[in-house]
Amino acid sequence: MKLCEFISPASLSEAREALRELGPKGMPLAGGTALHFMNTKTPVTAVDITRLGLSYIRREGDAFAIGATTPLSDLQRHRADGWALHEIARHISTHQVRNVSTIGGNICRIFPWADLPVVLLAMNASMMIYNGSEKEEEVAADDYFAAQPAKRFSGGNLLTAVKVPALKAHQGFGSVKASRNAAAFSLVTVAALLELENGKIKTARVTAGSAIPFPHRLPAVEAALAGREAVPAVFKEAAAKASSDARWCAREGMGADYIKQLAEVSLVDALEKAAAFANGRNK
Ligand SMILES: Cc1cc2nc3c(=O)[nH]c(=O)nc-3n(C[C@H](O)[C@H](O)[C@H](O)COP(=O)(O)OP(=O)(O)OC[C@H]3O[C@@H](n4cnc5c(N)ncnc54)[C@H](O)[C@@H]3O)c2cc1C
Repeated sequence: MKLCEFISPASLSEAREALRELGPKGMPLAGGTALHFMNTKTPVTAVDITRLGLSYIRREGDAFAIGATTPLSDLQRHRADGWALHEIARHISTHQVRNVSTIGGNICRIFPWADLPVVLLAMNASMMIYNGSEKEEEVAADDYFAAQPAKRFSGGNLLTAVKVPALKAHQGFGSVKASRNAAAFSLVTVAALLELENGKIKTARVTAGSAIPFPHRLPAVEAALAGREAVPAVFKEAAAKASSDARWCAREGMGADYIKQLAEVSLVDALEKAAAFANGRNK
């Protein structure tokens, strides 16, 4: 993508106004690391949103509020009770990319390899969108990740924050990203949020991405977990159901059958991590 001009607005409303005036000739610019993945030939005007006070992580009631321009390296460094995003953040690309790439940039235009959508969908996050009115729109993960979110922002609207529920006692989270090497794009990314009660799984949210055309939940896996013991045999049985929810794609020279197996093994790992997380917190 070619940038022809650079605007640095002083407020969210100024940024939105500029984007509305520019129409398809403008785009919000956060870390700018996705520019070379976007093949548009028409030159665009970049509207810088990194100086609008949207870089923060703070606790707000039962959730963590993460500003849209918070770099991935901050997600990696952050530690707090009920926080689990550091685990996936450290597996995204390199330190250099994580220092500039933002949470908003990762989820406003979803590329096939994007890891955060998989994790935020499992964690039941919600996205805060500034649409010019005083009260921001709050969009639940199931709705937000149902289709390419870039369409939501074409009219100048901006993502301002992501709200991630803090993990409660008895809840555990696990994610696994399988890739050729530490900095490579994902072959498959999976995530699981489990709520345990007396050793049994009360609720489960399980997701996959990269190895399928667009990240989504795996309802057959979730149903196979509900009410069952949180033990490896159950995780293996549930993971085997993933193929009824997902059309696995061949990736980087590896066949769809191999990716299917990789996804199932990764799901078992993520579920074991989530159960260990939940059990560890309740000792
Ligand atoms: C070499 C390399 C390897 C990578 N590997 C991975 C990987 O393995 N896994 C992974 O998940 N990511 C990976 N990434 C990062 C990912 O591909 C994107 O580059 C990154 O997430 C974009 O973030 P950014 O802040 O740079 O966004 P930008 O490039 O600034 O923007 C991306 C898009 O989002 C829009 N946008 C940004 N912020 C907002 C907002 N607040 N409101 C509305 N629209 C907005 C922009 O207009 C643009 O369309 C990699 C990047 C590179 C360069």
